[in-house]
Amino acid sequence: MTCRACGAATLHRALDLGAVPAADYFPPAEQPVHADESTHPLAMDLCGTCGLAQLADDDTVTEEPRGVEPQALKDQARDAVARVAASGWLTGETVREFGSPHGGSWLELLEQCDVTTDRTTADSGQLVASADIVLDCFGIMHEPDQRAAFAARAEATARGGVLLLQYHSLAAIVEQGQWNALRHGHFAYYSLPALQRLLADAGMRAATAWQFDLYGGTTLVAAVHADDPRPTEAVIEQMCADDAAMTEPATVAQLQAAADGQAAALRSYLERQSASGLRVFAYGAASRAVALFALAGLDHRLVGAVADASAAKQGRRMPGTDISIISPDELVAAGPDRVVLTLSDLLPEVSARLPALAGRWVTDDWIATPTG
Ligand SMILES: [Zn+2]
Repeated sequence: MTCRACGAATLHRALDLGAVPAADYFPPAEQPVHADESTHPLAMDLCGTCGLAQLADDDTVTEEPRGVEPQALKDQARDAVARVAASGWLTGETVREFGSPHGGSWLELLEQCDVTTDRTTADSGQLVASADIVLDCFGIMHEPDQRAAFAARAEATARGGVLLLQYHSLAAIVEQGQWNALRHGHFAYYSLPALQRLLADAGMRAATAWQFDLYGGTTLVAAVHADDPRPTEAVIEQMCADDAAMTEPATVAQLQAAADGQAAALRSYLERQSASGLRVFAYGAASRAVALFALAGLDHRLVGAVADASAAKQGRRMPGTDISIISPDELVAAGPDRVVLTLSDLLPEVSARLPALAGRWVTDDWIATPTG
């Protein structure tokens, strides 16, 4: 095992979630749980040489399905393009976008800024001439070979052009205990120092950056070729200093306590409800819930079923468990005493849509409180 960025063998285990089911396949509810359903190790390593946090190993071969773009992502894209334009970085005539399985494209927003976009080449994966503006919004973390991925983006960026690279910040992940950001298929988790090293190896450097609240902390970097006349702005030095601890294995390893703590709190909460004779269901069969349910070792005795608005998931079950997925209407009909919300952000939306369940919603904060 060597680093996906620098090739060094100095990898330190930062977070180990054990064997977790692949989060993109929800088996039919009637199909019995297979022993080999949960045999995909999920762990994060930190390279002691270049400081990149990365997926330790991935034996899953399935592709992440293109998701529906959430409104928060669309709003942030609009905000980001406006800020980049206002800072004078949207110059040039051509743009090329490296796509992301999470969906979302900035091409239309750039067209509104009078930048010509070539849609035929943008997402084809074929070699095309370099562009003045190269976009990568949550795309590059899906590349197993990080060194090669940065080289490809450097090659796609014209002389005097800019590479706009947006990622979920490792500092936000660590400081907010977002251990669930670790996923099969997500090969890299960036801090600015590690990113600078990756860019440098590809003949580029970060010249400036902007920060956003999306996902608790999202960074957009403008990178240029190393010999570009534009200076490196002070914000880069500041952000490198802020992120310095994120290249230390002990700092990133705090995620382990966050993961173990959340799984233990959830399990203990569910056992207390069960002992009190209360029926608990859950809402939201998102990928992140798959890892949480596996880590907490849940089954249908603790969680009656999980409701999800996605019709494609209904009639199926949570991978690695015997917990079936039902529709929101079925959830209401089941009359649960408590409904654990796997994504706290959904509370305003689901409580408005399912008024019959008022007073029964339970979020993470609530579970962490021992009196619950
Ligand atoms: Zn490395």
